[in-house]
Amino acid sequence: MNITEIRKLIEWSQNNYHNLPWRQKRSPYHTLVSEIMLQQTTVPTVLKKFLSFIKVFPTIKKLANAQEEEVLQEWIGLGYYNRARNLHQTAQIILQEYQGRIPKDPFILQKLPGIGPYTAQAISSLAYDENYLALDGNLERVFSRYYGIEIIKGPKLKQAIEKKFETPAGTIHYGAFNEALMDLGREICKSQNPSCAKCFFQKTCLAYKQKRPTFFPVRSEKESLQESLKLLRLLVFKNDGQILLLGKRKEKKEWLHSQVEVPTFIIQSSDTKLKQYPFWPNQKIKLSSPITTFITKYRIENYCLLWSWEDFKQVVKDHQKYQFFPLFQEELWSSTTNKFLKKHTSFTKVSIVALRQGNKILFQRRAAHESFAGLWELPGGKVKLGETPKQAAIREYQEETGLQLSARQLSFIRRFEYIYQNRIVELNLFIGQWNKKIPQHMTWLDLNESKWQKETLPANMQIIHALKENHGEC
Ligand code: SF4
Repeated sequence: MNITEIRKLIEWSQNNYHNLPWRQKRSPYHTLVSEIMLQQTTVPTVLKKFLSFIKVFPTIKKLANAQEEEVLQEWIGLGYYNRARNLHQTAQIILQEYQGRIPKDPFILQKLPGIGPYTAQAISSLAYDENYLALDGNLERVFSRYYGIEIIKGPKLKQAIEKKFETPAGTIHYGAFNEALMDLGREICKSQNPSCAKCFFQKTCLAYKQKRPTFFPVRSEKESLQESLKLLRLLVFKNDGQILLLGKRKEKKEWLHSQVEVPTFIIQSSDTKLKQYPFWPNQKIKLSSPITTFITKYRIENYCLLWSWEDFKQVVKDHQKYQFFPLFQEELWSSTTNKFLKKHTSFTKVSIVALRQGNKILFQRRAAHESFAGLWELPGGKVKLGETPKQAAIREYQEETGLQLSARQLSFIRRFEYIYQNRIVELNLFIGQWNKKIPQHMTWLDLNESKWQKETLPANMQIIHALKENHGEC
């Protein structure tokens, strides 16, 4: 890896993922909490809990002095509660034996409950910029591919990577480098289907040159003895004020028991005894490219289709076994389901602001170069990763209109969820008062007058309805 590639990687990471709350105000304590939370849990799930946890336990002293029940209470939604117990004990040891200062040395960190070699090196490099690689599964994959190391996953692979990796000439901050490698492993150099075309190491990566990225990291013989299985997963949505998705709670003895999985059927199996799923009825379907996953001895090619509830009822005889669950309860759904949703749907979170003066709401005209040019719309836009919907509302309003709003000025009214084919939109509506001058491209429109409402974006009608209901409450 040369310094130019590494700098480009870090720049990309900082431009896109700097907003993660534990990165914004990096401190040893925030790093400790986030690293423990991120063990076995995805970034989007940790995003939902990190800030509220830090609000209740803002310092290591507060955490150490809390009751275990209080810590477990704040951990709800993250699962694997032993991590919460270990974090609590670690905080107590650090307070008593290290005067509340989190150690820098990974060998000392590893002696604390719940901190293994990876987490110790991650804390040391991310929080103190010490020169360690935080080699978790993601980084192992990136490096084993980059260097084309044909060693089976495990301690020997780790040692080989550490031996191969040489700090390139020029200064690199290991904290930022490790963060960027984690982003690369998560977003680009993925276990299946890596996006090599977007990768900063494409020119020098050996696995890419050999045209076999997914051969690395090398699997053990046992792992390679796979049964092959083709499954069909159906995504059946329903709009019901909120977006619902058809699923089935897995029973005892079933894979992923107690989690909810979308309707799943066997299309083809090399194991004729497999009874985990029903066979797909003899009904023709057009399959797109699969996602490959592994469970026990099975290498599974998962094919995913968007289907309507009407078609489902006609084709699947025992459709009563399935029920609709809220889509946005991510922890309810199996991780495989979340993978399909990510691949087969696009999800956008937006914030919209309605500034009000009595009955009137402040709208702007869409510019000539935009679709629906000339129509009236409420200013707002996409929520960036790590931003709260309110922060996005303030930033977007300023960018689009030049008007600077404050957090205190805005109140959240409600959330709308839409699904159109495979596009899911979560829209957060905020309201506030405005009594100052407005820019030329904006105007006040009366909610009770209907003539201008034909000139607004169709999607805004539901919002206008909500604003009418909310009249007088802000
Ligand atoms: S080029 Fe491909 S295989 Fe190599 S590091 Fe990048 S994403 Fe991974």
